[in-house]
Amino acid sequence: MENKKEMRNWLNEFNLTHPFVIAGPCSAETEEQVLKIAHELKDSDVSVFRAGIWKPRTRPGGFEGVGEIGLKWLKKAKEQTGLLMGTEVANAAHVKLALEYDIDVLWIGARTTVNPFAMQEIADALAGTKKIVLVKNPVNPDLSLWLGGVERLYMAGIEKLGVIHRGFSTYEKTKYRNIPEWQIAIELQNKFPDLPLIIDPSHITGDRKMILEVTQEALDLNYDGMIIETHYDPDNAWSDAAQQVTPDALKQIFIDLKVRKVNDVSDEFTQKMAKLRANIDVLDATLLDLLGKRMKVADEIGQVKKDANVAVLQNNRWNEILGKMILEGEKKGLTEEFVLKMFKAIHQESIGHQEKVLNA
Ligand code: PEP
Ligand code: MN
Repeated sequence: MENKKEMRNWLNEFNLTHPFVIAGPCSAETEEQVLKIAHELKDSDVSVFRAGIWKPRTRPGGFEGVGEIGLKWLKKAKEQTGLLMGTEVANAAHVKLALEYDIDVLWIGARTTVNPFAMQEIADALAGTKKIVLVKNPVNPDLSLWLGGVERLYMAGIEKLGVIHRGFSTYEKTKYRNIPEWQIAIELQNKFPDLPLIIDPSHITGDRKMILEVTQEALDLNYDGMIIETHYDPDNAWSDAAQQVTPDALKQIFIDLKVRKVNDVSDEFTQKMAKLRANIDVLDATLLDLLGKRMKVADEIGQVKKDANVAVLQNNRWNEILGKMILEGEKKGLTEEFVLKMFKAIHQESIGHQEKVLNA
């Protein structure tokens, strides 16, 4: 997929200011609910109203959405408020209906992006559409699958494309419902800077208390917009109750968010940055140099182990190093998570070096 400018043009075409906001309930529940929330969001920073009509539930028995009738409610909400309307589509039949009801923004959910057959079916059904189409990241941390989904749509002649970062599921319990793995979204942004990138803090956190902090983090990383689940009675929502915020809470989030400039061209800023970046460049070179030296020592250790016919992995020694480094790191203001990740990577490389020597 080429990196085409028109991908970003739709932001201007629809007058979407930076950052633009999609908000509304996880699910459309009743006509009254849809209209009430849409009206409460009407004169705010919200540009697009969201509501799920077909809900992909991980396990059976949950609320699976109201179906086609919900599209009628969205149409009415659009007539009454002027907001653009958005919903999730998971197959060709959903696409056909959403287009019939003139939905403006169609998004592909995380459980659909994982499936290339489903993505292709949707791309074919949407072929040539002028609607905005957003692709959520797949549930598993796989950048290619995410990009593959976007490419299928692009190849079907859909140009108003964007991506939604909703986090990735993990087996372990973490403070997030779906861990962000920011580096995956950043890699995507680096590859395709003209593909608008939207944060979905609701599904990342699963917790309304964390919406502001995750959204701020995304804005600090130059995200273009946000999609935030909003309900006038979150606790009694039919789906995703814990993560929805009230329209008032959403407006407070808008007040609290700090939108930073993408860049600053002033001399003062440029000079300060140039100096600091030169500093960073020197330090990075030093880091690489040190790591290279460390691996040379690993090679020597490999040779000693080979001569003595000793196995590469010495778990006790390794756990000892890790414990010590976490404590040392803390003193230098480094998080345990970072120290662990970094030393695991260094260890992996070191094992690789030693193995090469042992098997030479
Ligand atoms: C949703 O946006 O309501 C939804 C189902 O999201 P996801 O596909 O990210 O789970
Ligand atoms: Mn939801």
